[in-house]
Amino acid sequence: MNIVRLIYFSKASREMSLTDIQSILETSRSNNNKMGVCGMLCFDNNYFLQTLEGERSKVNELFLRIANDPRHAGVELISMKNIDKPKFKNWEMGYTGNSPSFEILLNKLGKKEFNPQELTAAQSLALLHELSINNSKN
Ligand code: FAD
Repeated sequence: MNIVRLIYFSKASREMSLTDIQSILETSRSNNNKMGVCGMLCFDNNYFLQTLEGERSKVNELFLRIANDPRHAGVELISMKNIDKPKFKNWEMGYTGNSPSFEILLNKLGKKEFNPQELTAAQSLALLHELSINNSKN
């Protein structure tokens, strides 16, 4: 089986409320579970950064669906590669607005504010992974 990890970023096409984010999270949890896809979604400074891990055909199908969602625009693929095993065990969501731990993670990367355009694939993955570890501690 071909297992891949895809990472992309995008910009919210309108102001996102907590309810908007929760609605995306609810749909994602239910759909991704059924598809055997896991990953992490983070939202801050109007940017989304998401990683999806799972069977290549499922990840592709999901990414194309997400890319067409009118709630965001400027969807840009950062990377897609084959992996031996997933790094993210559950479907998770990092909501990072006003989070001090998120600021600390950004500072570690030498960034003052969250702008995924400036991040390499390795930095994006490191940030998402650290967020998921922080999330599971809370
Ligand atoms: P529904 O939720 O019923 O949606 C049907 C259609 O309406 C879709 O075309 C959808 O894009 C659109 N839609 C739904 N709600 C709204 C709204 N509030 N405003 C405008 N249009 C709307 N889905 C996943 O399954 N897994 C993910 O990991 C995932 N990540 C996402 C990340 C981001 C940043 C965004 C913006 C969306 C994400 N989604 C994700 C949602 C995805 O784009 C689809 O909306 C969803 O998969 C469709 O679910 P559904 O088949 O239950 O249809």
